[in-house]
Amino acid sequence: MSEWCQNKKCPEKKNQNQIRGSKGAKYYQSNKSSGYYKYWCSMGCRDQWWNEHKDTCMNAVGYIDKQILPLDDAWFVEYRYDWRTEEHNRYHLINKLKGVDQLTREQAQTPEDIRQDYGWSTRPNSEAKPLAIQLGLAS
Ligand SMILES: [Zn+2]
Repeated sequence: MSEWCQNKKCPEKKNQNQIRGSKGAKYYQSNKSSGYYKYWCSMGCRDQWWNEHKDTCMNAVGYIDKQILPLDDAWFVEYRYDWRTEEHNRYHLINKLKGVDQLTREQAQTPEDIRQDYGWSTRPNSEAKPLAIQLGLAS
């Protein structure tokens, strides 16, 4: 892995911080890759790289056909903020085929969420269907 931004046009950004070299022989150089973008310095460089290499990437990864998710299995826990009620944090267990059920905070959140007091956080989708089964909404 390189520490430098993988977009070969990175120096063409011509940012002040990219200038190096001594008088008479100055040049723009690539930025270092960022922790967040990993291989690139910025979203712009990632986009530029992607536009040039997307076909190569797709050929390497392989193409897949249409994917489906049956509605029967597609449960999720949703957080909503409701300013009208005394308890603003509302949680719902949702399946678009079967409707919506109100949850308590203990049902909607992991013990870790509650400990951290992350009101907006909800259980991952993988726990939504087991919860629906537990509450007698799904089998
Ligand atoms: Zn860059």
